Amino acid sequence: MEKVRTFGAYLKSKYGVRVKKIPLAIGGFTCPNIDGTVAKGGCTFCLNDSFSPNVAKNRDKIFLNLSSKENPLLGSQLNQVVSQINKGKEEFHTLGYKKYLAYFQAFTNTYAPFETLQQLYSTALSQKDIIGLSIGTRSDSVEDRVLEYLSELSKTYEIWIEYGIQSIYDEILQRINRGHDAKSVEEAIKKAKDYGLNVCGHLIFGLPGESQEMMLNSAKAAYDWGIDSVKFHPLYVVKGTMLANEYNRGEFRPITLDEYLDTLVKAIDLMPKGIIVQRVTAGIDDDTLLAPSWCGKSKNYLMGKIKQELAKAGYAY
Ligand code: SF4
Repeated sequence: MEKVRTFGAYLKSKYGVRVKKIPLAIGGFTCPNIDGTVAKGGCTFCLNDSFSPNVAKNRDKIFLNLSSKENPLLGSQLNQVVSQINKGKEEFHTLGYKKYLAYFQAFTNTYAPFETLQQLYSTALSQKDIIGLSIGTRSDSVEDRVLEYLSELSKTYEIWIEYGIQSIYDEILQRINRGHDAKSVEEAIKKAKDYGLNVCGHLIFGLPGESQEMMLNSAKAAYDWGIDSVKFHPLYVVKGTMLANEYNRGEFRPITLDEYLDTLVKAIDLMPKGIIVQRVTAGIDDDTLLAPSWCGKSKNYLMGKIKQELAKAGYAY
């Protein structure tokens, strides 16, 4: 059996203890694909405030962007960083984790003035047992000075930047209202690598209009662009999204579990040795899920299925 290199195993072998990512959702962040800078409404599958109830705390509805001149939310944002990290540590410590990465997850976490980002990232890194950062963002929203700053931090800390790739086909990216093309992601990934950063790429299987061959071509291209790590997700439909309208009109058929498993195993088969797999599925277990119903099954059930399929192909996960 060949072992799939997981993020947990990579961190454990590097730091000698179990390391967990603590997800953060900081109020005041949005996305240029939502606020009208590149588009409005966001990706068709994105329920824009669905990432975390924390976002709803920004009652003033002030949102930052790259040219915000001042940030009246900074004090509250710094408090959120500290309190969310503490809460995460409390929870994960009981599960045997000893060190943590602060994972800026919700929305576009480089889409704010540089000074704000510096303060948020450095505050996260100053917390006890935080050994690094993982920053989720878009290819059109990272200034060079942020890359420089992260590159400097990476000499001391474990620094990751996560880009949504989703598909390498521009017609598909347009159909999901992604607001950027594939070239933009390719350039962003290569640039982050030039700055010496660790890059994680996100891929979605089951996008409207994509064949399995297209999904696998996206995976192959992402590997070729130099990603160090990958997250695979199935596309599911959340109520209240533009994708939900497409689904209700009969214009979108979600990927089945069998199709997803088959695509995932093939994508792992194509993966060069050394790439770290951070995620192999995603789902939600509440009534906002419209379809496919298998994405509402428990994580244990889905992981069992995935491990079974990977084992048949000779992989231990
Ligand atoms: S890039 Fe992310 S946050 Fe922005 S609209 Fe798309 S899914 Fe939502």
